[in-house]
Amino acid sequence: MARVILLPGREKRLLSGHPWVYFTQVGEVEGEFAAGDVLEVCDARGRFLGRGYANPSSQIFARLLTRRRDEAIDREFFRRRLEAAAAYRKKVVKDTTAYRLVNAEADFLPALVVDRYGNYLVVQFLALGMERFKQTVIELLIEMFTPEGIYERSDAGVRAREGLQPFSGPLYGEVPKFTVVSENGVRYRVDLHAGQKTGFFLDQRENRKAVAELAAGARVLDCFCYTGGFAVSTARAGAGSVLAVDSSGAALELAAQNALLNEVAGRCTFREANSFDELRGLADSGEQFDLVVLDPPAFTKSKQALAGAVRGYKEINLRALKLLVPGGYLATCSCSYHLGEALFLETIAAAARDARRTLRLVELRRQARDHPVLPEVPETYYLKCGVFQVF
Ligand code: SAH
Repeated sequence: MARVILLPGREKRLLSGHPWVYFTQVGEVEGEFAAGDVLEVCDARGRFLGRGYANPSSQIFARLLTRRRDEAIDREFFRRRLEAAAAYRKKVVKDTTAYRLVNAEADFLPALVVDRYGNYLVVQFLALGMERFKQTVIELLIEMFTPEGIYERSDAGVRAREGLQPFSGPLYGEVPKFTVVSENGVRYRVDLHAGQKTGFFLDQRENRKAVAELAAGARVLDCFCYTGGFAVSTARAGAGSVLAVDSSGAALELAAQNALLNEVAGRCTFREANSFDELRGLADSGEQFDLVVLDPPAFTKSKQALAGAVRGYKEINLRALKLLVPGGYLATCSCSYHLGEALFLETIAAAARDARRTLRLVELRRQARDHPVLPEVPETYYLKCGVFQVF
């Protein structure tokens, strides 16, 4: 096995628990290897740090799979990792038939995502090194979880950074385009072939539950509603009326079906619009709400674009605050990793100052527990969800 020798002093992040070796940390590689091979990683003095797969054409040169010298990267390795991931979900995932079974780096299986939608699995292989283990992983998933079908949705943009083409299609069994999952007693129809992410925003499950608890009797506005995650769950929880907005017609079609499926269609209105414009229009026409949910897509995927993203977040929060009655609630989210928690809160505070409203933090929430966070791997914490009461 070839050996990656790091530059002097560049082992610190790895030692603290981060699994990535950046190209810029690499001193030299001893031995022959092909892109995607598993290599040994050592510090400048030759001390063993771990074993991981390498991709010389990616900025992330290697990702550690193990830190144990005595652990081989074989089928049994993957079986143990998948077993541990499943055991953790058994403890922390409640009241749902859809959840993330494997969350990549946070489950010590870098660049591998496995989502469970009832009897179907949807997978993503997001790095060349993990792609090489696809056959093993799929065989183990079949053996261990006996799904009716497995569908691949490796069409995320990050594949390009690994020099990989996007791929989407069936890998095993029969996977219908649509399936219905049940989350906290709410049923959602999910597009397994072409929905956003792997079909559903599983990371918002616990936040949907928390927000629904505030919804009884409320006039709700759900901006960026996708297939109606917050809209339908708040309606089920007794909201008086729900207006839900998204720019995707396909998402809204499912959202309307989801409202019907849960017998709340009479209280839900879905509107295809740009949320920025809709928020402005609602304010201009003097509309008021008791609960506003803002769950936009990531406004930035890079540090460089952060300033523009902050302006975007500030604007939608400012507009939402103006629509809320005194004592109303704002549930505001950001899934931009580059917008850290402190700046996220500061941005909302700035919006509140401009809107001359006083905020009371009900709770600051994160992604659901099946999307675990490694404190030493900041990239694993991306979703912030601030729930505020507004005066
Ligand atoms: N809250 C949802 C997930 C929202 S994902 C849930 O619980 O399932 C973000 C959504 O924002 C996507 O559906 C996307 O289509 C939509 N979107 C992106 N830009 C938009 C814009 N400018 N106006 C309205 N919707 C937008």
